[in-house]
Amino acid sequence: MKKLELLKKHFGYDSFRPLQEEIIDDVLNKKDLMVVMPTGGGKSMCFQLPALMLEGVTLVISPLIALMKDQVDALNANGIAAGFFNSSQESTQQQDVILQLQDGSLKLLYVAPESISLLQNYLASITVSLIAVDEAHCISTWGHDFRPAYTQLAYLKKSFPDANLIALTATADRATRSDIKKQLTISDGKEYIASFDRPNIMLEVRPGNNRISQIRRFLKKYEGESGIIYCLSRKSCESLSSKLKSYGYSAAAYHAGLENRFRESVQERFIKDEIKIVVATIAFGMGIDKSNVRFVIHYNMPKNIEGYYQEIGRAGRDGIESRALLFHSYADVMQLRRFAETSGNSEVQLAKLERMKQFGEALTCRRRMLLSYFNEYLPEDCGNCDVCLNKPDFFDATVQAQMALSAVYRMKEQCSLTLLIDVLRGANNAGVMESGFHVIKTYGTGREISWSNWQQYIIQMINQGLLEIAFHEQNHMKLTEQSKEVLFDNRAVQLAVIPKPEDIAAKTSQPTTELPTDVNRKLYDALKELRTDLARKESIAPYMVFSDATLKDIASRIPLDDNQFADITGVGTHKHDKYAFGFLKVIQDYKESRTEDFVYRDEAPKKKSRKKAKSGGLTDTVMDSVELFWNGKSIDEIAVERGLKADTILAHIGKRYASHRDVDVEKLLEGVDLEMLEKMLPNYQKENSLKPIFDHFDGKIGYGQLRLGMAVVEARITTAV
Ligand code: ADP
Ligand code: ZN
Repeated sequence: MKKLELLKKHFGYDSFRPLQEEIIDDVLNKKDLMVVMPTGGGKSMCFQLPALMLEGVTLVISPLIALMKDQVDALNANGIAAGFFNSSQESTQQQDVILQLQDGSLKLLYVAPESISLLQNYLASITVSLIAVDEAHCISTWGHDFRPAYTQLAYLKKSFPDANLIALTATADRATRSDIKKQLTISDGKEYIASFDRPNIMLEVRPGNNRISQIRRFLKKYEGESGIIYCLSRKSCESLSSKLKSYGYSAAAYHAGLENRFRESVQERFIKDEIKIVVATIAFGMGIDKSNVRFVIHYNMPKNIEGYYQEIGRAGRDGIESRALLFHSYADVMQLRRFAETSGNSEVQLAKLERMKQFGEALTCRRRMLLSYFNEYLPEDCGNCDVCLNKPDFFDATVQAQMALSAVYRMKEQCSLTLLIDVLRGANNAGVMESGFHVIKTYGTGREISWSNWQQYIIQMINQGLLEIAFHEQNHMKLTEQSKEVLFDNRAVQLAVIPKPEDIAAKTSQPTTELPTDVNRKLYDALKELRTDLARKESIAPYMVFSDATLKDIASRIPLDDNQFADITGVGTHKHDKYAFGFLKVIQDYKESRTEDFVYRDEAPKKKSRKKAKSGGLTDTVMDSVELFWNGKSIDEIAVERGLKADTILAHIGKRYASHRDVDVEKLLEGVDLEMLEKMLPNYQKENSLKPIFDHFDGKIGYGQLRLGMAVVEARITTAV
């Protein structure tokens, strides 16, 4: 069978993720490979699919004993013969695996590096076609998670001369990669390095005040969804998790101070969706394959970007929109700085912390900054981080930049960022006096600007390449070629206006990751319920039955028969045979309970084409309201009939008006001062908030009418232009 057919048959997917296909081709062509892909990028597919096509068995070496069972369960759930062998098993279980191995019924065998020698004799008599070394960074002392047992893997290639070897990891810089290849004796192996970008994870940073209430507000959008909250200390893990529990959330703490057994059960219950939120120190999450983690919150700032990146990577492995929220506080920075100062490699640690802090303070696209840390450059702003979604205003800051740069120049590039700001602000503390810089010409020229604003401006200048920090020269500020243009050639500088803290807090309701509008919430919930029941019966994790992505696809396409169900993403033959009946039954029940607004899928093309002519790209729900309105129903009648709020119906009418202007809105806007609204439009477009307008009219005009009014004036202006 061909690759793509197998992909659909066993995994239910229609296409490959980036690099997967090339890698699989090379694996099938017996090449040795080194693969670096971010967490969630789809590494496993690179050996699981070839395993199905190759003769004999594929050995998967993995250090994560606790997770082997999950990985094997997930494969079995897809109808793939896989087993595992490690020291956590009883000897009868081990015997069982050996028997399966000998009678040739296994396609994949997961083995811990410590245990492989025990299997040597059995393996010698069967065909091993491929060896996959997972979490390969553990092999190198250069990597961050060295495991001694991994260093003995050099013999693999010798013991199985006919097998090719693929090493996989999510983190390995150049030195680590070549060390891994050398140790595995695949020095000539080709390297595949996938993009580190995880575009479905929305990145967001907020000031770390009132964190608990910010988190509660955040969680409102994630009822019943899984997430991880990382804290710096055990104590804050405990206290945050008990607070969340007292507010009715399903939460548990996880840290090194807890008993092993207890920790394992937390992890297990999290994977099975029995606990929704885990509040953890960094110990949690390593290697967890759970695909439906919808959010990762950093209650405290991580100590470096590598850690941050790895932790947020645990969100959204299923490719669905997910969110990473980082709280940024100066107190955290101070504490981390103290840790770093007392650590072995303090200079490097401090420099890394500094980059992390700059990330938190960035006023430019955060994803670009994050990726540039891993030497990857996005050609454009990402559009899915808080900065991109709330673009700051820029101002001509040439004068301020000149002030800062000329101070650096006059201090002969011998000042830290702190000293620079103190000198600009004319401070007369000991640091400044001892340095003798209180006599330079720029001393005190910037006293009008607050300390923290100066800090922000200078960080922006660093991010724009106008200044550099020499980490190996006591963090002294250095001029660059570009800063010289500002100083001597009158080059202009634009800096972002620094938002006031209250403005940032007001924006907390920004981007949502709610279900897309075409996903039927009620049906989705019913599907989830069935998934949980099935998982419980089989003692596997719910995401192994179907991922969130699959349930969403079902709830938006609403398949009504076997064929349509087979079309859904993530539905392979095995799962189809096992689950189609049950899920189709849930859909049937749902359909019967909601005959009125249910769109039959088999009728959909007809209905769609009927609407396409008229709907002009508007969704069905908008058009349903509009049509009732055209039929002479009042807003309130439509609202009752459709079980929606009157404001929502008004919004639907507004959308139609904006694109077609063929609904009669006059009556709906009686008593609304449209001229006034037109004046307020520019500000509304900028702030995207109706609250000031609502307040302006003393609350006498409802939000629905205001929104419609805005849509109308906006449409008129655009047409006029
Ligand atoms: P990694 O090991 O790189 O962290 P996984 O192999 O666990 O990532 O894959 C992450 C998720 O992506 C899994 O849920 C997997 O089923 C899914 N996945 C892998 N390949 C594809 C694909 N081609 N199309 C859709 N989903 C995929
Ligand atoms: Zn961005």
